[in-house]
Amino acid sequence: LQSEEIEYLISLFRSIPDFPKPGILFRDFMPVLADPRGLSLLIRAMLANLPVSPDEIDVVAGLEARGFLLGPAMANALGKGFIAVRKAGKLPPETLSQTYALEYGSACVEIEQDACAHGERVLVVDDLIATGGSAHAAAQLIQASGASVSGYSFVMELEGLNGRDALEQHPVSTLFSMP
Ligand code: AMP
Repeated sequence: LQSEEIEYLISLFRSIPDFPKPGILFRDFMPVLADPRGLSLLIRAMLANLPVSPDEIDVVAGLEARGFLLGPAMANALGKGFIAVRKAGKLPPETLSQTYALEYGSACVEIEQDACAHGERVLVVDDLIATGGSAHAAAQLIQASGASVSGYSFVMELEGLNGRDALEQHPVSTLFSMP
């Protein structure tokens, strides 16, 4: 993208202090999607900034919920399919589950047991990487199903949380780094 296009994209992000909890600065990319030019630029930028070459990707996996908004558009443009990594309890059996630690407590993500074919190379997509815990859990699920992770694509990276360290086994790309 050109610098004017990047500035336009950045101008559409919204930051909400103390949401959903005190002390959290919530980074909201929904206004980007609501804007026709923003949406087009965002998907174009994500495709131009893939962590690996498209011929190393067989399928795109999106994390619930905001990865569902990016993943299918990216997959479609790449001529690939899309699979959903869901929060626990949403998918009918048989599923694979992966629990992971949060700052307080834990969370669990699931995929359908046959979501990916054996040996498929999967690009993992979400809006934002904070600690990297959810993307790492998604990668563990993909590997447990017999597929492999080709890389991770995010729109934003939160600084100071070392999220990339959790994902160091595969290439990571992000468009923006934010405090
Ligand atoms: P993590 O697993 O810690 O990398 O957290 C990433 C997930 O939590 C993503 O699905 C994000 O959408 C969400 N998330 C974490 N922190 C924020 C934040 N400050 N603003 C918006 N979403 C966030």
